[in-house]
Amino acid sequence: MSARGRIAIAGAGLSGAVIGRALAAEGYSVEIFDSRSHIAGNCHTERDADTGVMVHVYGPHIFHTDDTEVWDYVNRFATFMPYKNRVKTTSQGQVFSLPVNLHTINQFFGKTFRPDEARAFIETQADTSITDPQTFEEQALRFVGRDLYEAFFKGYTQKQWGCSPTALPASILKRLPVRFNYDDNYFFHKHQGMPENGYTELVRGILDQPGITLHLGTVYHRSQNDAFDHVFYSGPLDGYFDYENGQLGYRTLDFERFTYDGDYQGCAVMNYGDVSVPYTRITEHKHFSPWETHQGSVCYREFSRECGQDDIPYYPIRLVEEKQQLAAYVRRAEEETAITFVGRLGTYRYLDMDVTIREALDTARLFLDQRRVDIPMPAFLHAPV
Ligand SMILES: Cc1cc2nc3c(=O)[nH]c(=O)nc-3n(C[C@H](O)[C@H](O)[C@H](O)COP(=O)(O)OP(=O)(O)OC[C@H]3O[C@@H](n4cnc5c(N)ncnc54)[C@H](O)[C@@H]3O)c2cc1C
Repeated sequence: MSARGRIAIAGAGLSGAVIGRALAAEGYSVEIFDSRSHIAGNCHTERDADTGVMVHVYGPHIFHTDDTEVWDYVNRFATFMPYKNRVKTTSQGQVFSLPVNLHTINQFFGKTFRPDEARAFIETQADTSITDPQTFEEQALRFVGRDLYEAFFKGYTQKQWGCSPTALPASILKRLPVRFNYDDNYFFHKHQGMPENGYTELVRGILDQPGITLHLGTVYHRSQNDAFDHVFYSGPLDGYFDYENGQLGYRTLDFERFTYDGDYQGCAVMNYGDVSVPYTRITEHKHFSPWETHQGSVCYREFSRECGQDDIPYYPIRLVEEKQQLAAYVRRAEEETAITFVGRLGTYRYLDMDVTIREALDTARLFLDQRRVDIPMPAFLHAPV
């Protein structure tokens, strides 16, 4: 056993890998468990044997960040290729550019507006009678008016969240979701890219550190805690407590995979805004690696639905009525000793990859600092409530 101590980590995704590497590098003996047969968690990518296409197995992942330390960190373990996320949507019988930008507005209304004209026009569309928007729908109507709302926000949101936009809080749509120029790059971040050989290679590089032992296909259960000096848990918070206070609400995704000989849709992501189309989008994976050439193609039709106990939890819903249940889990977690809940599932928050890595680096640093002065780690660095 290592002189420093034994650490267990539940989950070999980005959270577990980044924390594991940092602690193993400081002489801890780190055991990482993942119930799946592969590393990289939901970022897992694998090459399709027939077509050679790099497939984002749990849905498409695009790396984007303003955090230069995180960008430098991932670039130590993988070569990042330039990638801009450009999304299209099929709505009301036409294909438009997203996010809603000057091209979308001009095409939708049959105009040739310049930016100032478009801005003034959208103001005439906005429903100014709504002074204090409470719901997603009210917020969207207040910002962009009924026509754009129904074409680009209503159906997609309803399919994504499984409820009417009148039941979702206004806070989901924080800013005006429209651009008055032709910029169709989905993200604003300083750094954007795609790992040349996929995310699993990136995570393999992070895990390539003496002192780490991997146990794939192995569920970690809290009954094992006593064998370790400290545990980092990146599995679901409610799952840790065997769902004893009920199940926290998540949306899950079903991917209907199909192949095509050639170029199926000409872009990586095509959203479907109409409620009459049951899926939210189709992703064509070879377009996530535009530096590669493949004749065959692998596509996913993506369906969103409520998550059952045996499904993969994807997006936390965080309904208002869940607050008490979540608070109960947080209280129980804080009563535990020598365990820290991390990552998107452990803290029941949606986290982009860069935020996940930032939080994992901070968690590992805090742990190492606290150990030096013998202060116990908190259950959460970033509490869910
Ligand atoms: C559909 C979708 C698309 C996304 N797209 C993007 C994107 O484009 N850009 C971006 O920056 N981010 C994106 N994200 C977010 C990204 O997936 C997360 O930031 C990242 O996966 C979080 O890593 P993690 O290690 O915290 O969790 P995970 O990747 O979920 O890893 C947790 C691991 O723990 C394992 N586990 C759980 N419980 C146990 C247990 N008891 N014992 C053992 N193992 C266990 C699980 O099997 C899993 O492998 C997307 C997320 C989703 C859902």
